[in-house]
Amino acid sequence: MKKSPIFSLVLLILLLASGLLISKWFGGSPPTTYRFDQNRAYRDIEMQLSFGARTPGSQAHQQTIDYIVEQTRQAGWQVELHHTQRLGHPITNVIVKRPNPGAPQIILGAHYDSRFFSDQDPNPSVHDQPVPGANDGASGVAVLLELARSLSPDLPIDIWLVFFDAEDQGNIPGWDWILGSRAFVEEIPINPAAVVILDMIGDADLNIYLERNSNPQVASQIWETARKLGFEEYFIPQYKYSILDDHIPFLERGFAAVDIIDFDYPYWHTRNDTLDKVSADSLGIVGQTIHDWLSRYE
Ligand SMILES: [Zn+2]
Repeated sequence: MKKSPIFSLVLLILLLASGLLISKWFGGSPPTTYRFDQNRAYRDIEMQLSFGARTPGSQAHQQTIDYIVEQTRQAGWQVELHHTQRLGHPITNVIVKRPNPGAPQIILGAHYDSRFFSDQDPNPSVHDQPVPGANDGASGVAVLLELARSLSPDLPIDIWLVFFDAEDQGNIPGWDWILGSRAFVEEIPINPAAVVILDMIGDADLNIYLERNSNPQVASQIWETARKLGFEEYFIPQYKYSILDDHIPFLERGFAAVDIIDFDYPYWHTRNDTLDKVSADSLGIVGQTIHDWLSRYE
């Protein structure tokens, strides 16, 4: 997916115009010292894959919950397990908080489950096997874990990191998509100023387009942050897909939610969604962008 020169010029004009509209938000100078540790985040993907496919009810699924709890508690966050059930299945969302009463609440989310079936694989004989989920699942979790280790505790926001269960089991009898995030929104009292979902953001060939259901104001803040960091070829300010993801339950309740997803991933729901398809650089691009967006949030 390449941009044409004419498109780039139009894009530049649009971005300059949108920059004027959100100039208040960009009043502060960008943080210069922080570097998102993309290699440590990459090791979080390796760790999740070492457990195996994190399908609901599996040992790997429980090990992932334990790992998220351990890593975020070590980094000094409050951790709660939200246990519930949907369609007869147990659901565990991991809620990680750094409370700051009175400050705007920001929720960052990622799903940690992996899909039971690789039903998009070109080889039909492996459709009954689980998706390894290096990108689809593990990448978003990895960026949230590294943010948990490295975000300043002094940010003037009430930040939650939520690791959603059971996002990825739609079109399977007895299951549905986004069960964990729906249960979270229905059962946990929240009032977020912004919600950002990270899903499939580790592709070594990173192309993140604007997603059509997402809140345009929050999306433009994030894409503008990426542009200022020099990441405009990865955060492409052009609409492409309309995705059913963990941002939808928040949008349905009127919250400003955005899905950051690279859906141009040929290994989606295949047995080839493996470690060699993701890169530390991509985790760094997304992690640095989210960090800098949060750091300038007022
Ligand atoms: Zn998926």
